[in-house]
Amino acid sequence: MNNKNILIFTDLDGSLLNHNNFQFNTIKPFILKCLRNNIRIIPNTSKTKNEVESFSEQLGVDIPYIVENGSAIHNLDLVCSHFGKNNKSLILSRTADEIFEIFNNKVPVSLRNQCLFLKDMNASKQSKVLGLNGEKLTSALNRLYSIPLIFKGPIEIKNELISIFNDLDIKLHEGGRVINICDNCSKGDAMKIILKKMEGIKKKYHSIVIGDSPNDISMLALSNQPCVVPLPDQDNLNKLKLKKVIRANQVAPDGWKEVVLKSLDRINFKFKEDSYG
Ligand SMILES: [Mg+2]
Repeated sequence: MNNKNILIFTDLDGSLLNHNNFQFNTIKPFILKCLRNNIRIIPNTSKTKNEVESFSEQLGVDIPYIVENGSAIHNLDLVCSHFGKNNKSLILSRTADEIFEIFNNKVPVSLRNQCLFLKDMNASKQSKVLGLNGEKLTSALNRLYSIPLIFKGPIEIKNELISIFNDLDIKLHEGGRVINICDNCSKGDAMKIILKKMEGIKKKYHSIVIGDSPNDISMLALSNQPCVVPLPDQDNLNKLKLKKVIRANQVAPDGWKEVVLKSLDRINFKFKEDSYG
């Protein structure tokens, strides 16, 4: 396997970043080592563009990424220079305002009342739900394509809402902390677009996908190697039935390194000799 053909699509919160403090310092040298070895790492997250840009800054490297549950792809030219600087972003979603209008006009009020939107909470409640404050909280709420909420009702009512959404061509995506109303897109659909573009250029690639929550299932299901990182004190994706899934023993960030190493081992990948990470 040529290193350049290994693609890691990864969720961030709870998968690569620690669920509670969003740190990844302990695995930063390992991530950089993967990149130096020409493994492509593509964050595929419910986070916003601003938030992923700030992650890239912390990492010190520009990388391609997918935001807001598959709503947009950025830095496509870094997946492969073939795409060129003029085509570096792809928007796959209607705007958050358009999506909210559909929700407001078409969803029965009894169901709408079960949705507690983050935009309607005060800053201290928003901060508690997202585990962020200050500038980071502002960046997380600055969403172009999705509307985060807490659902108050029981699972049966949530399922009712999901089925109404299906008819309205919009989606409910469940992450580790909040649910997002999105356009009819998903992390898997956005990943598929990148893979399709890759197919035109490279015949063979191996995709590793790392996730922790229901909104990661669409991309896990598409991968050559699905990997699940556990959330602290939560049953997450325990019932996921995918062939040959690798489950980390540790939570993020160390669980991320654990599943990447196990995945690379399965394809007999060897890092070039170097002493870092
Ligand atoms: Mg997550």
